[in-house]
Amino acid sequence: MKQLVLLGGGYGNMRVLLRLLPNQLPNDMEITLIDRTPYHCLKTEYYALASGTISDQEVRVSFPEHERLKMKYGNVTKIDTKKKHVLLEDGSFVDYDDLVIGLGCEDKYHNVPGADEYTHSIQSISKARATYEKLSNLPSGSVVGVVGAGLSGIELASELRESRSDLSIKLFDRGERILPAFPVRLSNYVQKWFDANNVEIVSNSNITKVEPNKLFNHEETIPVDVCVWTAGIQPVEVVRSIPTEKDASNRIVLTQYHNLPKDENVYVVGDCASLPFAPSAQLAEEQAEQIVKVLLMRWKGEQLPAEMPKISLKGFMGSLGKKHGFAYLGDRTITGRIARLMKSGVLWMYKYHNG
Ligand SMILES: Cc1cc2nc3c(=O)[nH]c(=O)nc-3n(C[C@H](O)[C@H](O)[C@H](O)COP(=O)(O)OP(=O)(O)OC[C@H]3O[C@@H](n4cnc5c(N)ncnc54)[C@H](O)[C@@H]3O)c2cc1C
Repeated sequence: MKQLVLLGGGYGNMRVLLRLLPNQLPNDMEITLIDRTPYHCLKTEYYALASGTISDQEVRVSFPEHERLKMKYGNVTKIDTKKKHVLLEDGSFVDYDDLVIGLGCEDKYHNVPGADEYTHSIQSISKARATYEKLSNLPSGSVVGVVGAGLSGIELASELRESRSDLSIKLFDRGERILPAFPVRLSNYVQKWFDANNVEIVSNSNITKVEPNKLFNHEETIPVDVCVWTAGIQPVEVVRSIPTEKDASNRIVLTQYHNLPKDENVYVVGDCASLPFAPSAQLAEEQAEQIVKVLLMRWKGEQLPAEMPKISLKGFMGSLGKKHGFAYLGDRTITGRIARLMKSGVLWMYKYHNG
């Protein structure tokens, strides 16, 4: 049996499984999925897990079962593309014929001193759980600093507001206005929600240092009881250390067929891949669709298209607590309850198809 090994059971590789397993996997192929967690984690909901508005169980989805899908749970510590095998923390090796690396990302601290040691994170399930523990045990009146007002920072600050009305929340935004890449109407809506709900947006901020219970914004010292870092991501370390070309964000540069330039058997999906869009679950899934097509064609010995179709995304959605949200879909800005309902609907559909 030939081995297709999937590293990481995140959004990208779940889509690979969803497409291959029902009836597209060639008879001579077997899949091994390796992940450190024994279930698929809904990373897009970690802001709610950390805020304490949903339970742990709600962010877990069982991996699919199939007679030619083997599961291996453990921490991947090395990917050796020369020997065509993957090393796990327990010392075991897994050989592959084809490999899809979908190990996701972790925080990037931009060399800000103390950020790694003194901030909390929502980039992995264990870190989101630890952040929940810290936030939920805070005494009334405590100050929470959220550094980074991208989608995950906005969702965390708003969800925490609904969860803990007794906390003071400060959201540090690098820009002049929140979500500067999107229409002003959308930024204004989000800003107004934060104003009405007593979350302070600190615009034009630049966090230069973090110390225990202290953030340094430019020269100013800001006392905080907890700080959560949502100000940048990078591929996980094991992917960063693969000796191959990376882009400025340390993501792996790929051919248009999503494999390493010098290795047709190693594909990279999702947050670890250098693609012309910001990383997202939606992008990981769309890229996975193309990877499955390429794998199937190569397995059948078919000629690949001279040019792969461009990946197109539908847009993006964000929540402001459980009742309000915003979406930017095909150049249309949608705000309010409808946007929130749409986001809940997308999550429901995802669980329905993958659960
Ligand atoms: C709070 C938040 C909200 C978000 N909201 C949205 C949204 O609304 N829409 C959207 O499209 N995107 C959203 N994203 C981004 C989205 O979650 C990621 O882009 C997406 O998860 C990337 O998918 P992936 O397959 O690359 O990796 P992931 O889904 O991160 O999966 C990686 C997998 O690899 C495993 N893994 C990692 N390292 C190892 C190792 N060394 N050994 C073994 N296993 C390992 C992990 O356990 C995990 O299962 C959000 C992210 C956050 C943090």
